[in-house]
Amino acid sequence: MPTPAPALPVPVLQDRFGRRISYVRVSVTDRCDLRCSYCMPKGFSGFEEPENWLRFDEISRVIAAFARMGVGRVRLTGGEPLLRRDLPTLAAQLSALPGVAELSLSTNATQLHKHATRLHAAGVRRINVSLDSLERACTTRITGRDSLGAIMAGLEAARQAGFAPIKVNMVVMGGINDHEVIPMAQFCFEHGYILRLIEAMPMGDTGRNSAYRALGPIREQLVARFGLQPAATELGGGPARYWHTADGRGSLGFITPMSQHFCASCNRVRLAVDGTLYLCLGQEASFPLRPLLRGGASDAELEAAIRTAIELKPERHEFNEQPHKIVRFMSQTGG
Ligand code: SAM
Ligand code: SF4
Repeated sequence: MPTPAPALPVPVLQDRFGRRISYVRVSVTDRCDLRCSYCMPKGFSGFEEPENWLRFDEISRVIAAFARMGVGRVRLTGGEPLLRRDLPTLAAQLSALPGVAELSLSTNATQLHKHATRLHAAGVRRINVSLDSLERACTTRITGRDSLGAIMAGLEAARQAGFAPIKVNMVVMGGINDHEVIPMAQFCFEHGYILRLIEAMPMGDTGRNSAYRALGPIREQLVARFGLQPAATELGGGPARYWHTADGRGSLGFITPMSQHFCASCNRVRLAVDGTLYLCLGQEASFPLRPLLRGGASDAELEAAIRTAIELKPERHEFNEQPHKIVRFMSQTGG
């Protein structure tokens, strides 16, 4: 019997600064049913035209190319990804691709009760839900809509559908919801959710005008209140720094792009709904993939374009030095 050929090593995608790219976030829409004060302005209408949205087969082609280059972690995001019709169909296509090891979703959860079971069946396992407050009026103020009930129903649907882990993302804003970090931690510990506190970034005038609050003092408050211990190992392969409760049953993450940036270990790029690949949240560097997808490029040409794009990845953001630089909103890049 002939000896089987040895498996070829998976090529590694690495940028000019030696960072291994292992994660791609895919924005499936720039639209949203909410208007979070730090993200998208009220009355905004500059959305991408539908003919420019990457189709499911185009998204799958890009993700297949990434996966062939060793990028096995994929997150669906937006805007609000659940507004894209038939998202579970796309999820099933992506999770079936060779080399895609993990498919996850970021959502505001307002529509999640309708889709949770199908998304789980389609291979989505990890889910992040934006929830900035447990108070109805405060949630309405932040999201621009009376949305707390729908978000809570979505979270419960995620739990019942079997998603794990379920992470709750809270952007902490001074004088708006920073009084709620302890109740929010308690709520998440009780329900088995992992809370991640996030510093607001100056993306667009919405991000810039949100009441940025550094998380250092809040971390000290939470460490003292819950007897938190720093996680011995890095969790999640992302920017969050995790702490555990003394009994090990609760975890809490801090994402500090402003007070303690983590650019040196950045492992990700973002594909916008129009096929633009963004290399950094806080820089303009980008590469348009749609012309290749619609211009008959071969798979080899697509891979070469992605490698060229990765060369453009900047060393770090400059949110602190140049807070007015990025005019696009987080919802346009794909958070
Ligand atoms: N709509 C989904 C959601 O809210 O989870 C997915 C897209 S949203 C843009 C992804 C994440 O970006 C959310 O957790 C949101 O809180 C965060 N985000 C949006 N604008 C931000 C900003 N200016 N600074 C920090 N985080 C921001
Ligand atoms: Fe929509 Fe998410 Fe932006 Fe809020 S953070 S406006 S839910 S895209």
